Amino acid sequence: MKRGRSVLTTKSLPFPLTGDQSFYEALGDWIGDVFYDIFPEKGLELRDEQIFMAFQLEQAFKKKSIMFAEAGVGTGKTLAYLLYTICYARYTGKPAIIACSDETLIEQLVKKTGDIHKIEELLDLSVDVRLAKSREQYLCLTKLDKTASKTDDEDIDFVYEQLPEFVHGNGSMTSFYPYGDRKEYPYLDDDQWKSVNYDSLQDCLSCDVRHRCGQTLNREHYRAAGDLIVCSHDFYMEHIWTKEARKREGQLPLLPEASAVIFDEGHLLEFAAQKALTYRTSLSNLAVILDKLSSNDIREKTLYLIDRILEQHDQWFAEISRQADHNSMTERLAIKRHPDLMTKSKMLKESIDQLLEELVFESELYVIDDYDLKIVEEYLERVLFSLKLFVDDDGAIVWLEESSEDDTLVIMPRLVEDILREEVFSKKIPYIFSSATLSVKEDFSYLAHSLGIDQYDAFTVSSPFEYEDTMDVTIHVMDEFDKGEKQVELLKANHTGGSLVLFNSKGDQDLFQVGCSHELSNRGTIYFEGDEEISTLVEKFQMDSSSILSAHHLWEGLDVPGVSLSQVIIDSLPIPPLDPVFEAKRNHVADPVQQVDLPYMLLRLQQGIGRLIRTSSDKGSVHIFLTQEDLKWIDEVTSILPVQPKILQR
Ligand code: SF4
Repeated sequence: MKRGRSVLTTKSLPFPLTGDQSFYEALGDWIGDVFYDIFPEKGLELRDEQIFMAFQLEQAFKKKSIMFAEAGVGTGKTLAYLLYTICYARYTGKPAIIACSDETLIEQLVKKTGDIHKIEELLDLSVDVRLAKSREQYLCLTKLDKTASKTDDEDIDFVYEQLPEFVHGNGSMTSFYPYGDRKEYPYLDDDQWKSVNYDSLQDCLSCDVRHRCGQTLNREHYRAAGDLIVCSHDFYMEHIWTKEARKREGQLPLLPEASAVIFDEGHLLEFAAQKALTYRTSLSNLAVILDKLSSNDIREKTLYLIDRILEQHDQWFAEISRQADHNSMTERLAIKRHPDLMTKSKMLKESIDQLLEELVFESELYVIDDYDLKIVEEYLERVLFSLKLFVDDDGAIVWLEESSEDDTLVIMPRLVEDILREEVFSKKIPYIFSSATLSVKEDFSYLAHSLGIDQYDAFTVSSPFEYEDTMDVTIHVMDEFDKGEKQVELLKANHTGGSLVLFNSKGDQDLFQVGCSHELSNRGTIYFEGDEEISTLVEKFQMDSSSILSAHHLWEGLDVPGVSLSQVIIDSLPIPPLDPVFEAKRNHVADPVQQVDLPYMLLRLQQGIGRLIRTSSDKGSVHIFLTQEDLKWIDEVTSILPVQPKILQR
């Protein structure tokens, strides 16, 4: 697997292409050879489900259509779509994009025991796959400088020492190489990382060190991938949303043009699209941009207008803080649409609109650098778009995030289907959605509709595993106090391998960490999500089959086969939080429980349980903890379990 320096590689197809066969005929023959001969010869079992899926995928590539590929655990769906995707990328000369649901899962695909490695080994292929992580996954030199100057944290000093020589101005551009990935600093916990990583409030465009910045260098590196680029849904959507603006600013889009796009865990794409269209601002954001603008030799009228906007903006933010629900149990504080706030929002919107008009006159006077002007205009247009969403009744979901540094206001659109229809799915390339659950009883229309997809092909194949022989499920109904005690007992008693404990939120995980971890001090290592970089934690957990992994993000995608994971404990039902995003969803359906809470919870629960059995030889137990109140959902919960559960009530 190639993950070195940037070199554009044109790879040859793994099968001969002669004049008497089309590409698709030759590809079909080769796929047949791979599944019927090569894989079985190398010890891989022949799976009917996988072969069925492979030939369905062929149609999607041939027709360049949208395909919903719903395939249960163990069907080998990743292997099937990878074979087509790699060949198609080589045939078209453009890399394919694989978008994973979460940043934490990107490394899973390229790990040593992952499917890309398997393909390389079994078929003697060298796959050029490169990772395009989201910007937050890279170090920001500007932030590192700021943090280092006001802390004596040795870990932060060590990050400084690790910087390549060329960052300090030594060496020519030919000595530059990608660096600064979160994975290179596994010793930093999440809070330390947040003090040195890129965040959306950084102004990269006018940054003096951007050519030496690891984020820029990584982008140049993955852009040159020959076969595959792996990114997250969030990053793919950020690319879609920013690509036109970036082109206007003379920059390259975040991702290169793709031959095909695979959405792994595709049912989660809608939320990523909403997130990417989200506007985030802090109190200081607009001030920084407008102060810079004022330093130009602009007309007095424009200067007055800028002063007015800054004043209105301060008052607007103060009103937002007043209307925010500070008693909220989640990180997202809902904001009341109080008439005072709506009036202030409208006034700010009108002033910004006016400023954009004034900037047209300014541009004709040539007193502001063209490039700077473009940046300000882009920024103001985004503010305007978000304010319009906010003011126009219920077009937006709005919340406030508080931190010791600065408060951030977030405005997210409620519906994204029109934008997706236009910006993504109108392109004539293959789009494959792959997941164990994409439909409601084989009806894919809910997902298709929410993503703006009008025409698609779809199929469903169920898991080939015999769950009755390999797993047992116990439902424990008990209160919080007894729950902690029982979980400790289960974790201590598991001598057959590692345990995964899944929590519904970071808060729940913290409670467990404080309340139970000392009781488990003799039971082997416990890894907590957030204490180290996540793929490093997963690797450590996989290597130590007596360890415990405690996580709140790994309900999906975690693939740890064998004894390293023989017990999954689900701390509570994954009911969606009472935060503004889910509240907005609930407010726009006739029956919030049936249409939002229950489908989300059941899907997530299924995904969590799916972490246990990853191969036909895996065995283990699942324990699900319910409160008395949750018993109202017992029928729904038992209906999605792969085996009949034992129910224990205390
Ligand atoms: S380019 Fe952006 S991420 Fe890089 S150092 Fe500058 S501000 Fe930070």
